[in-house]
Amino acid sequence: MTDYVKQLIEQRRELHQWPEEGWTEFWTTAYIAKKLREWGFEALLGTKIIEVKQVFGRSQKLVDQAIKNALNRGAPKEIIDEMEGYTGCVGYLDTGRPGPTTAFRFDIDCIVVQETDNPDHIPNKLGFRSQHDGFMHACGHDTHASIGLTLAHWISEHKDQLKGKFKIVFQPAEEGVRGASAIAASGIIDDANYFFGSHISFMANTGEIVAAPYGLLCTSKYDVDFQGKPAHAGKEPNEGRNALAAACNAFVQMMGIARHGGGMTRINIGTLSGGTGRNVIPSVAHMALEVRGETSSINDYMAQNVMDIVEGVSKSFGVTYKVSQMGAAVDFVNDKDMSDLITDVAKHVEGINKIIPDGNFGGSEDISILGRRVQEHGGKAAFFICGADRKAGHHQSTFDIDEGALKQALDMYTGIVERVNGK
Ligand SMILES: [Zn+2]
Repeated sequence: MTDYVKQLIEQRRELHQWPEEGWTEFWTTAYIAKKLREWGFEALLGTKIIEVKQVFGRSQKLVDQAIKNALNRGAPKEIIDEMEGYTGCVGYLDTGRPGPTTAFRFDIDCIVVQETDNPDHIPNKLGFRSQHDGFMHACGHDTHASIGLTLAHWISEHKDQLKGKFKIVFQPAEEGVRGASAIAASGIIDDANYFFGSHISFMANTGEIVAAPYGLLCTSKYDVDFQGKPAHAGKEPNEGRNALAAACNAFVQMMGIARHGGGMTRINIGTLSGGTGRNVIPSVAHMALEVRGETSSINDYMAQNVMDIVEGVSKSFGVTYKVSQMGAAVDFVNDKDMSDLITDVAKHVEGINKIIPDGNFGGSEDISILGRRVQEHGGKAAFFICGADRKAGHHQSTFDIDEGALKQALDMYTGIVERVNGK
């Protein structure tokens, strides 16, 4: 009998040692695909699961380096080639018996943060600290990937008691909400009757489940590049076109977008840079910004205002501009009967002693795009929180998860599979 708890922890620690940021998860994807195939799953890779036109925020330079790193670390070249430059994997298994198609999503990317060298930090103590300098699994996606893999193993070993089909999505680039759109647009989960995903810890401790977190915010992320014309700042500034002035004006106007009476809004211009030298009219400027809204239409309202401002200042300063979308998430609400199912499963999981019906998630999660896609195609979808005690908050260098909670997370998923796909 497979010791699933041992597997959960061992995989998590292996993955923790080589964290990769969004769209560079080549070693991680190869690790996942190899195991899935060993257990009789098909592992779908590359453009089979990625719609290239919907890939946001991917850097070819980082991709090239990450492929080299993955090969150096022993990732099989055939699997890397199959990925066609795009990370992520969908594990597919057909039991051969008629029944529903159930899809799951586990995200696999890391955070760009240096893991603490404090000797009391458990990964340091037990020797599984990040070996990838400047990168860390500081959001628990190492546990997500490990839970997804162990679920796949469990399904393959219980296939005879199950019906229908399974699609386990290992999603790249959740951070910055960059990865889900490309997977959704590929159509790979359009036939799913059911879709489930979760986040570890976040707003709940070990022994707790949040069945229906609300307040998943719609968001759009944009990079804006203004292009002007350089000129001598003393002799003939009139010959220049000031891109930085345009960007600064855009900044101020964006902060003043009238708030929407219909619901919550946010805007943040996180970076603004430009210019080339003290005595040159700045001919380039770059801004990275995001808007959020309580609903899609409120988010669209914020985004439209941003676009109007960019267009307006560009005209008045005589510069041109390019807007690139870098990420997106939508609002999402669980199907009620799926939240009920999660609650019911949780009641039977050993170690879960508190079922929290709902709670404000208060952030964006691009699982919303996949969940909505399934709902739009007539399936049912739900997102829940698997509680786990944590040291420090998510995205911090001292973040760590209580590994004892992983078993309950796995039991939630196997419980769901038994309900939905049990023979
Ligand atoms: Zn996360």
